[in-house]
Amino acid sequence: MAKLSFLFALFYSAAVVAAADDTVAPHGGAPEGRAVTRQYAPDRNAGFVHMSLDMTPDFQQRTIAGTVTFTLQPIAGPLAELELNAADMNIVSVESSEKIQAWQATTDRLILTFASAVPAGHETRVSIRYNAQPEKGLYFRTPEMGYKPGDEHLFTQGEALDNRFWYPCPDAPNEKFTTEITCHVPDGMTVLSNGRLVSQEKDSSGRTAFHWSQEKPHANYLVSLVAGYFKSVEDKHKDTPLALYVPPSDIQEAPNSFRETSDIMDFYEHEIGVPFPWAKYYQVIVQDFMEGGMENTSLTTLTESTLFTPATENLRNSQGLVAHEMAHQWFGDLVTCKDWSHIWLNEGFATFYASLYDGHKNGPDSMLYGFYGTARRLLNASNDEGTIVNRKFTHPDDIFGPLPYQKGSWVLRMLRAQLGEDLYRRCIKTYLERHQYGSVVTEDLSAVIEELSGRSYDQFFDQWVYHARFPELAASYSWDEKTKLAKISLQQKQTLGEDVLLFNFPWTVAFSGPSGRVEKTITVKDQSEDFYFSLPEAPASVRLDPRLEVLTKISFDVPAPMLEAQLADKNDLAGRLLAVAALKDKKDHASVAKLKTALNQDAFYGVRVDAAAALASVHSDESLEALLASMEQSDARVRNAVSSALSDFYNPGACQAEIKALSSEKNPGIKAQDIRGLGKYAKSEVRALLLPLLSSHSYRNSLADAAIAAMRVQDDISFLTPIRQTLEQHRDEFPTRGFINGLDTVAFLARDQEKKDEVRQFLSSYVNDKNSMIRVGAIKSLGTLEDPRAMPILETFTNAGKETPEQKAASTALEAIRAARHPGDNLQELRDMVLELQKQDRQLRKDFDTLQKKLEAKPAARSSKSAR
Ligand SMILES: [Zn+2]
Repeated sequence: MAKLSFLFALFYSAAVVAAADDTVAPHGGAPEGRAVTRQYAPDRNAGFVHMSLDMTPDFQQRTIAGTVTFTLQPIAGPLAELELNAADMNIVSVESSEKIQAWQATTDRLILTFASAVPAGHETRVSIRYNAQPEKGLYFRTPEMGYKPGDEHLFTQGEALDNRFWYPCPDAPNEKFTTEITCHVPDGMTVLSNGRLVSQEKDSSGRTAFHWSQEKPHANYLVSLVAGYFKSVEDKHKDTPLALYVPPSDIQEAPNSFRETSDIMDFYEHEIGVPFPWAKYYQVIVQDFMEGGMENTSLTTLTESTLFTPATENLRNSQGLVAHEMAHQWFGDLVTCKDWSHIWLNEGFATFYASLYDGHKNGPDSMLYGFYGTARRLLNASNDEGTIVNRKFTHPDDIFGPLPYQKGSWVLRMLRAQLGEDLYRRCIKTYLERHQYGSVVTEDLSAVIEELSGRSYDQFFDQWVYHARFPELAASYSWDEKTKLAKISLQQKQTLGEDVLLFNFPWTVAFSGPSGRVEKTITVKDQSEDFYFSLPEAPASVRLDPRLEVLTKISFDVPAPMLEAQLADKNDLAGRLLAVAALKDKKDHASVAKLKTALNQDAFYGVRVDAAAALASVHSDESLEALLASMEQSDARVRNAVSSALSDFYNPGACQAEIKALSSEKNPGIKAQDIRGLGKYAKSEVRALLLPLLSSHSYRNSLADAAIAAMRVQDDISFLTPIRQTLEQHRDEFPTRGFINGLDTVAFLARDQEKKDEVRQFLSSYVNDKNSMIRVGAIKSLGTLEDPRAMPILETFTNAGKETPEQKAASTALEAIRAARHPGDNLQELRDMVLELQKQDRQLRKDFDTLQKKLEAKPAARSSKSAR
C-alpha cells in the first residue's frame, strides 16, 4: 500500500504520514478503546482452502447482497466452533456440509457452532448468505453522491482490516486461500477482480455476471472487487496481459500513467529472478481513493491524483507509485508478512525495488539521490525511538510509516551493499521461492541470507530491525606529514539504552589526491575509535561512506578546500550533495558563488535543486540575487526549485520576479507553485492577479486551487465572496479535496468577522452533502469559522449513536470553537453573570425584606419566642 502523501512528494522517497482515523478491533487483537498492547498473529483453528463469493451490488441503495462459501479443514483437533470476521452486516442464513447447532452474529463477527466437533483434516463447507450497507471496505461513487454521471463505480480496499465489512471472512494475513468472485452488474458495466476472467454472461435477471478466479492462494486483505463504467489502455508483457482502467472521463491522461508498466515488469523479472506470479496485471484508477495505491493480487488500485498531463513536463510522473505497487506483487502478495508487525517485509521491499527500478531507468545517480533524501528525513526524525519490527500498536493502520517503508528500504540497501549484487539476488530469489504463496517473518529472510552467505546476520537484524535509531557518528580527521598517516577518529554519539544499541558495521573511507583515489574498509564497532591510514601524500579529499551504503548520521566538519574538491568531483554525487548541504550554513561570498555555480552548472538535476534550496536557506541579499539570476532553467524540476526558493523570501524584487515568471511560465505545476508563493504579498497587484485565476481552466483545477491557497495566506476578507461564488458555480471542476480546501478557506477568511451568519449558513448547507468527504470537510470548516452559533449544528452530529467520521469531525470542530472563544467573549460572559447575580441579589433582598415585614406583623409569635 502507498499512502496518499506519497504522491504529493512527487518521488517515492516521500515521507509517509500516519494512517486512517477509524479503529476496529483487529482479528485476535486488542478490543476497541484499550491502550496499546503487543500484537501477535491470531490462531488458525482451520486451514481455509477456497472462497467462492457471489454478490450483487445495488448502486442506487449503495448496498450489497451476497453468498460466500468457504471450504476449510480443521487443523489440529476437533473443531467445535468456527469464527469469522463479519462487521456490521446482516447475516441471512448459514449452511454447512456439517450439521450446525447454532450460529450468532455480533457487530464484528460470526460464530458458528457445529452440532458435533469436526475432526482435523475433514473437508468442510460453510455457506453464508448476507447483505450489507458497508461503511468501509467497499465504496460507491455514484452521481447521487456528487460524482460525474457516466463515471459511476464501486471499489474495495481491504488492507488492513476492512474486507470484513463487505463479506464474512478469516481476516488475517496468515491465512491464504484461493478465491473466486462472481459479481452481477447492470448492462455496460465492467467488473474487475483478482486472477483470471472465467466468464462474462447475462444472468436470469438481465444483469451481466462477471466470474473471476484467483487460482493461486492469497491473503484475505488482497481480495479486491471493482465494478462500474471504465475505459482502459492495454498492453502485454510476454504472456501477461497488462491494462490500466480509468473512469471514462479520465481516459485521456491514462496513457501517461501507464507508460512504464511493461518496462517495470520486465526489469523486476530480471532483477528478482522469479517470473511475475499472477495471471494478469491490471491497475485501476478510482475516484477519491483513500490511499495512494493498493497492491491487490493482479489488480492494483490507484488514486486519480496520480494522473497528470504532459504540460507538467518531468515534474510529475506515476513511475514511483506504479513501481512500488507492482513490486508488492512479489513482496507482500506472493510472500506475505505473517502478521502486521513484520509489515516491512511488504513495504520495505516495495519501496526498495521501486528505487532499484529508478536506478535502472534514470541512472544510478537518480537512485542515490532518492536514498540521500530518505536518509535525511529518517536521520532528522530526532525523537523516533520506534523499531522496524513493531508489535506495539492498537490498529495495524498505525504502523504504516517511515520505519517499515523508508528505513526498511535502507536495510535492504545495506544488505545488498554487504552481500554484493549477485549473492543478494540469489538470497532474495531463494527466499521468494521457498516461501511463495506462504507467510513470512523477518527470520525467514535472515535464515536464507545466513544459509547462502555463510555469515552470521543476527547482529545486523538485531541492531537495524529489532532495535531503534541509527549510528550518530562524530568524525574528525588529521594528517601527520612525518609519518604520512591519515587519522580518522569516530565516536558513536547516539544515546544508548534498552531500544538503541551500539552499532557494528563495515564502512568505507575514500581518500583522493594527486596520485589517485584509495578506498579502505573498516569495521566500526566501538563507542570511540581511531583509525590510521598510510597514504603516499596528504589527501585533497576525505570521504566517509562515499556511496551512502550505511544509514548513519555523520557530523564531520570538512575543511573548505576539501569541500571545494568534493563539489567539483563529477563522479561523486553524494559528495556534491553533502558539499551543497554544508555550504547552506555559510553566508560568505565564496560559498554563495559556489552554490550559484552548482545551481546553474551541475550535471545532475538533484544537485541543482538542492543548491536552489540551499540559497534560500542562506537567506541573504546575495543569495536572493543568485536565485533571481538563475530563473532560466530548462529542467522543470530545477525551475520549480528556484520558484520554491524564491517564495522563501519576502522581498519586492522576488515578488516582481515571481509575477513576471508567472506570466511566461507554461508548466501548470510551476505556475501553481508561483501562485502560492505570491500569497504573502498583500499588494493590490497580487490581488488583481489572483482573482481571475478563480475562474481559470486547468487540469484538476490546480490553478484555482493554488489561488485559493494564496488567498488564504493573504487573509483578506474581500476574497470571501469570489471564492464562495466559485465554489457554488464551479463545484464540478474541483476535485473533492480541492473543493473542501475552498470551503475551509471561506471559513478561515470569515473567522474574525463580527457577523458570520451568512458564511455559517453557506458552510452548513454542505454538512449533509451527498458526498461523504464533503460532509466531513464542511463540518471541519465550521470549526475553522470559530462561530459559537454553529455549535448546535455540530452537536447534532456528536449526539449520533454511532461513531462516524462526521461525529469525529464535529467533536474536533466543537473543541476548536471552544478553544477559540475570544477573551472578549469570556469577559462578556462574566459581565452577564455578574449582572445576573446582582439581579438575583436584589430579588433575595426584596424577599428577605418581605419576610421580615411578615414576621414583624406577627407579634404573638415573636413574644412567645422571646419569652422562652
Ligand atoms: Zn506499499
